[in-house]
This record gives sequence, structure tokens and C-alpha cells, in this order.
Amino acid sequence: MTIQRRITRKVKVGSVFIGGDSPIVVQTMAATKTRDVEATAATIAKLSNYGAGIVRVACDTSLEAEALAEIRKRVDANLSVDLQENFRLAEKVAPYVDKIRYNPGHLHQLEPSLSWEKKVEYLVGVAREFDCALRVGINSGSLDPDKLRNYREKLEHNDVDPSSGGNDASFFDPPLRSALEHVECLDSLGFDRYVVSIKDSDPETVLFLNRRFATLKPLVPLHLGVTEAGAPPRGILKTRTALEPLLSEGIGETLRVSLTVVADQKEQEVAAGKLILDNVSKGIVASVDELKKNALNIVSCPGCSRTQSKRFVDLAHKIDEATQFARESPFTIAVMGCRVNGPGESDDADIGLWCGGDRVNLKNSGELLGAFSYDEVVEKVVELLKEKISRLKK
Ligand code: SF4
Repeated sequence: MTIQRRITRKVKVGSVFIGGDSPIVVQTMAATKTRDVEATAATIAKLSNYGAGIVRVACDTSLEAEALAEIRKRVDANLSVDLQENFRLAEKVAPYVDKIRYNPGHLHQLEPSLSWEKKVEYLVGVAREFDCALRVGINSGSLDPDKLRNYREKLEHNDVDPSSGGNDASFFDPPLRSALEHVECLDSLGFDRYVVSIKDSDPETVLFLNRRFATLKPLVPLHLGVTEAGAPPRGILKTRTALEPLLSEGIGETLRVSLTVVADQKEQEVAAGKLILDNVSKGIVASVDELKKNALNIVSCPGCSRTQSKRFVDLAHKIDEATQFARESPFTIAVMGCRVNGPGESDDADIGLWCGGDRVNLKNSGELLGAFSYDEVVEKVVELLKEKISRLKK
């Protein structure tokens, strides 16, 4: 049985196409340090041979851009680059990649006096010059603060007018709003070689936002994923509960399963992506009810070249094991690998951790308790969780 698909625009990324009548592309991301040219090139080659249609690499500095030039000489894979705050790096990396992912939530940091529309215009200019596609990569953990403030004010003043385009307040949800605004901006520039992703760590939110976006913008190819899904097997199940229903409805042209695994085991992400496609083609669709059997929600990022300590993945797995006693408790624990999405995601969790080089920042319901060593922080998390459970019983 093949997967029934909607027909979107077709976007060329190196030797593959996303959308249209092309097969769904499974992607993954290298988690080696980008400046380690040999290790990153070897990882990309391995992942590409394993079936990743596109491999993404993070790039935050000029030195990493230089490393990317060397990596390009060594590998024949389709490469995507992940830009964060430093959008100006685009012109330095574009000659060596096939796609540039930018996060609208990070465009406001560098050169704040320049409007985000002008920054997008710049990115489009670079993409055109160097024959690259773009991805508008929305992540709920790192949204534009102005957009969030605006949305909260609208809600407070009951000023959410569904008649302006959506059939409910979700039209003004910051992630969806942001995706729609960027689509409008790219369209107004006459650039249609782009895909959109709207990711969240909650599978139900991913389902909801992607269904809404697909209804409002049916021609725009969607890159699907649940961000910070965590360690396998739970991270795979969490992703399946969002991606399998979407794909079975014909929504989604490319996907990534983000798993907290060490850098040399990233092929697990590709294997999980293939499993999801295979399931959907056989009519197997996981439901969020499967997840609700274990109420404790552990959110952890997959790690990437920005991960500040090699101990991060091990810590995420230890937290998972040490909190099994509380599997039925209704709390969220977030374990993040660096300062990029770490502070935001750990703010929203009941217990939040984000990892630095040799200390781990620990938050209780968004309030910073301090920075602890990797050895002592697991016990602190267990103590906090026990306190929360005992308060629930009172
Ligand atoms: S939180 Fe940091 S380390 Fe984790 S995936 Fe995101 S950027 Fe990479």
C-alpha cells in the first residue's frame, strides 16, 4: 500500500525533491562539532548511505562556515545548514549547502533595527544567488518574544478575531501566525523554493498546528517533526503519535525524528523515520492515548554541534531511568543540551534543566535554583519530583 498524498509545490534540494509527487524525504542532523571536519564528514556520509535524503549541520560562526567548506569537498550528500541568531552567516555557508534553515524566532536578535522582513529579503537573495532552498523552521521553544507578548495581550483583551482567516483563535497562535507571516513575506518576494516546519515538543500541538497550516496553505510543503522528543523508545513513540496521523491524512513531504542519542548513533533517527513511513503505508497509526498511559513527560533535545557537554546525552538517559518511579505523575521534565532552546523550553517545564560545559542549570517551575554538577543534579531532580508528588497527594 502506498501513502496517499496531497499535492504540494515541489522544492529542489540538491539531488532530491520535497513535495509534489516525490517520495517523502527522511532527514537527520549531524551532532558532531561542525569544526571537526573529519568526524562531521564521516557522520554525514554514514547517515546519507543509511538513507537520509538530507543531512543538516549547525553553523554559528565564521570558523564553522570555513569547516563546512571543507566538509562539502569530502561528501556528496544533500546538505542543509541550520542558522540561529547569526543570519548573516548565510552568505558564507550558502555556497556549500543545498538548503538553509532559518528560525523566525531568532531573527530579532542580531541587528534589531533591521525589520525581520528585510532579513528574510536578504536570505532570499542569498538563496537565489547560491541555488539553495529555504526552510522556515518554527520552534515553539524559541519564538519571537514580540509575537508572544502580542498574542497574550490579544487574549487578555479578548481581541482575537477568528473572522480574519482562521476558524478559531489558533489563527493567532504565535507559531502558526509566524509561519503564515513568513509564507506571505516569501510569496511577496516571488520566492517559492521553500518548505515550512512547525515543531513543538507536544505531539498533540504538532498535530493541531500542522493540520491548520496544511488547510490554510495547502501548496506549501511541510517538514514534520516533534522537537525534543527524547530518548528512544519513548521519543520514537512520541513522534509516531503526531507524524503517523498527519502522514495518513496526506500531510507532510519530509520528516525528521529528533532523538536524544549520542552523535555516532544518529542513524537511529533515520531508522525511526523509515519505520514511520512503513507503518503508515501499512495503515498503522499510533495514537496519543498510547502516550497517556505514562503521564510523566520527559522532553529532551536530540543534541547537535551546539551541545555544550558530551555528558548531556548520558544525563538525559539517567534522568529518564531515575524518574521511572513517577511514571504516572502528571509532570514535565525538560533536559536541554545548550543555551539556544534550553532556557525557553526549561521555563515551561515543571522541572527544567539546561546543560552548560560542566554545570547543569536547574529550574523548578521556571525559577532558577542554581547550577549543579552533572553528578549531583540527578538526585536534585528526584528530590524535586518527590516533593511535587507529595504536594499532589495533599
Ligand atoms: S537545545 Fe541546543 S544542543 Fe539541543 S538540539 Fe537545540 S541547539 Fe542543539
